Amino acid sequence: MFKKVILFFIILLSSNVSAQIERVEPAFWWVGMKNTQLQLLIHGNEICNRKVEIQYPGIRILKVNRACSPNYLFVTLDLDPKITKAGKFDIQLSQPEKPIITVNYELKKRRNDSEKRLGFSSADVIYLLMPDRFANGDSTNDNVESQPEKVDRKNSSGRHGGDLKGMQEHLDYIKELGATAIWSTPLLENNYTKYTYHGYAISDYYKIDPRFGSNDDYVKFVAASHQKGLKVIMDMVSNHCGIWAWWMSDLPFEDWIHQFPEYTQTNHKANTIKDIHASKIDKDLFLNGWFDKSMPDMNQQNQYFWTYFIQNSIWWIENADLDGIRMDTYPYNDRDAMAQWAKAITDEYPNFNIMGETWLFSPQDIAFWQKDAVNALHYNSNLPTVMDFILQRALTTCFNEHGKPWEDLGMNRLYNTISNDYLYANINDLLIFSENHDTQRYNFLLNGDLAKFKMAMSFLMTTRGIPQIYYGSEIGMTGNKDKGDGDIRRDFPGGWPGDSMNAFSAKGRTPIQNERFDFLSKLLNWRKNKTVIHTGLLTQYVPDNDIYVYFRYNEKEKIMVIINNNETDQILKTDRYAESLENITTGTDVMTGKKFDLKTDISILKQTALILELQ
Ligand code: CA
Repeated sequence: MFKKVILFFIILLSSNVSAQIERVEPAFWWVGMKNTQLQLLIHGNEICNRKVEIQYPGIRILKVNRACSPNYLFVTLDLDPKITKAGKFDIQLSQPEKPIITVNYELKKRRNDSEKRLGFSSADVIYLLMPDRFANGDSTNDNVESQPEKVDRKNSSGRHGGDLKGMQEHLDYIKELGATAIWSTPLLENNYTKYTYHGYAISDYYKIDPRFGSNDDYVKFVAASHQKGLKVIMDMVSNHCGIWAWWMSDLPFEDWIHQFPEYTQTNHKANTIKDIHASKIDKDLFLNGWFDKSMPDMNQQNQYFWTYFIQNSIWWIENADLDGIRMDTYPYNDRDAMAQWAKAITDEYPNFNIMGETWLFSPQDIAFWQKDAVNALHYNSNLPTVMDFILQRALTTCFNEHGKPWEDLGMNRLYNTISNDYLYANINDLLIFSENHDTQRYNFLLNGDLAKFKMAMSFLMTTRGIPQIYYGSEIGMTGNKDKGDGDIRRDFPGGWPGDSMNAFSAKGRTPIQNERFDFLSKLLNWRKNKTVIHTGLLTQYVPDNDIYVYFRYNEKEKIMVIINNNETDQILKTDRYAESLENITTGTDVMTGKKFDLKTDISILKQTALILELQ
């Protein structure tokens, strides 16, 4: 049925569109890239038989390929790095007895030291936000003519109007909180009738959704973030596009997407792709089935699509000056293609960082996806950062329960999770978090308990990895995923004109919100320059009586973290930690400034974490 629908669209398009070029993608490129090849997708009515010519010093046409649809040409160029200079030139498309079509193309000069850009790392704390739900800086773009879904704040699954301007206006807030990087859920166009606010059904990979702003607005947002010392991570989606993606009406190739006689959904069973016992039907269904009715599954094995996508990622890094990429639904993609993608990016930008969404259920499942992981399949993903969903799962319950050393409960959950670090190729490149835009709100799980929140954040900011916090957590925003995703993605109070409170300023926050915000802000700002936390070694002790103790240390510094998960004050016998304490006699708590004499046993208040800088 899908094929028939697509064929119908092709006929419609062929009969109505005049002989002009509708798209050339990427719209421009740069000289001086490490990879000297460039594939141009040219889309225009019946252009497939045209001859392609370019006269420009250093540019050679390597290949011109037709697609299945007559309305495409894929032109591969080689740009001689010694000869090709930045500038504009004409691409001429000719055919006997037809007027010549001329496309003007630009090769730009790269930014200074573009290839040396430094990606996010364990020295950063990432602030994850959803642009539609964070702040509405421009109500004139809430509804745009080209997009059928209009603003409706009463609908929790609808668009609420947040945008890039709103994000840019509150950079100081994020900076004050102490985060150093922003990960925003996707900003590219999602042209569809409903449920477009989340951004994961992209209809144009080269265009910011006009309800968020323009491509230029995004470039300006990144520049403004950089001015404030904040890095920007772009959320990308290679597994699926939106059902109204521009190419769905005229697919270049039949296998540009995975097609089935009738709607076929993925089985969501990521284990199949490394299961040596997996059946082919299960494996194929996982990889090729659609994520959702509105999200066609892209075929990463189609070399034209995959080159298109790799270039698209590099185009956004170079054009918007990005510091990182977060890639959606990582295991759902063809795994060799993903390895090629990650390698192409890190070849071009060796110090860049990419994190993949690895929402899997065991540490070995997650470790498999990290660059240089040792596994029996000899697979190397080239993906630097994976998401520690195991630690996230431990955090969802560990402060609501207590456990003995032989149980996986309470503080033992944290200890047990960290004890599996031998599986990971790089423990500093693990994204660590208590919640994100797809999970239960953490404050909901903690029932708003401030003491538990403080313990959790003290842990996240001092253990190994790259901490990520989810917008609104810092003011106690809550929500129940069981009521739908909209409930865990509520509007940030103060982000909309006329909001009854404004949590972006201390004055607008309640005393309890300020306590939460101030605690986190102090902790994050302290963490900024603590190399010992970013990259130091970690020694942990088996939790005794639900008190978890670990040390972070390097040649210069040593930090002792003590988390008392009990509902009563406890005495900690310090002599048990002699191998880490050595001759250290005093520790100063980062949050309160209180000094502790470590030569004797110390008293730890109920449900508190101490972060002691040791002297
Ligand atoms: Ca708006």
